[in-house]
Amino acid sequence: MLKPATASVSITPEPVRELAVLRQRIPLWRAEGLRIGFVPTMGALHAGHLALVKHAKTLSDKVVVSIFVNPLQFAPHEDFDRYPRREDADAALLAEAGADLVWLPTSDLMYPQGFATKIELTGPAEGLETDFRPQFFGGVATVVTKLFNQVTPDLAVFGEKDYQQLKVVQTFARDLDMPLEVIGLPTIRESDGLALSSRNAYLSAEERDTAARLHAELHAIAETVQAGGDADASIARAKIRLEAAGFGPIDYIALRDADSLALPSADSRALRLLAAAWLGKTRLIDNIAV
Ligand code: AMP
Repeated sequence: MLKPATASVSITPEPVRELAVLRQRIPLWRAEGLRIGFVPTMGALHAGHLALVKHAKTLSDKVVVSIFVNPLQFAPHEDFDRYPRREDADAALLAEAGADLVWLPTSDLMYPQGFATKIELTGPAEGLETDFRPQFFGGVATVVTKLFNQVTPDLAVFGEKDYQQLKVVQTFARDLDMPLEVIGLPTIRESDGLALSSRNAYLSAEERDTAARLHAELHAIAETVQAGGDADASIARAKIRLEAAGFGPIDYIALRDADSLALPSADSRALRLLAAAWLGKTRLIDNIAV
């Protein structure tokens, strides 16, 4: 377990579990004129998370990483209970990546008795993930807003791995005048193209071999679209191949406007191809620029 730093032993990054302590540390940094970067996570950290931390480090003087498995963004039948929790390994990785403080709130601290607030989202939060996980972005928006208010960062770094989430966070941060910059970073992948994810730990060895097919099929569709081919037909063919490889159900494979996540139109400056599909008991998501 992470232990609080004592006077004689200094642990980097400092684990903080109490809001009062966090609210002492941050103003001290701010008083020194330091710029504060923030990376929210659910832990079980991998090289994707660490890339965000290292990037935040290049843009700020101090980097805060939160680890909190947010119950609000899981439906009752989802994987909240079995979501991997690896606090010691995470602490060692964060020390290597150069994080300065780890914020470790509890569910009771985040959602005490009487918590009664919901954030309503439209725009990029509509469709895609919301069609299959209707609770998801409300839970994300609530926890991220609370974390931003607790940490008060100058900037926050999110992964494009969760592209719709990145667009949702950028939109509510802008709409609600949150005084920080929300920066997106490209997806970190395994050598065969599989996007790193804490949930990859659920995959059997056989599923792990199959999992990279999702990314390969997204590339095949993107190539067709770039060559002027029919996106819908290409997506339909990719779904058939994925199902034959063992995927299913395929929640969606969809081509969208890269900014608004609305259906592509003549005004679309860039497109994004997004997908979510089950492989056994694991739900994989991925997306690429088109
Ligand atoms: P999570 O712990 O899954 O909530 O993710 C925390 C942050 O890490 C989010 O901003 C994710 O988009 C980001 N992230 C997760 N996996 C990757 C990856 N493979 N590459 C880049 N960022 C990632």
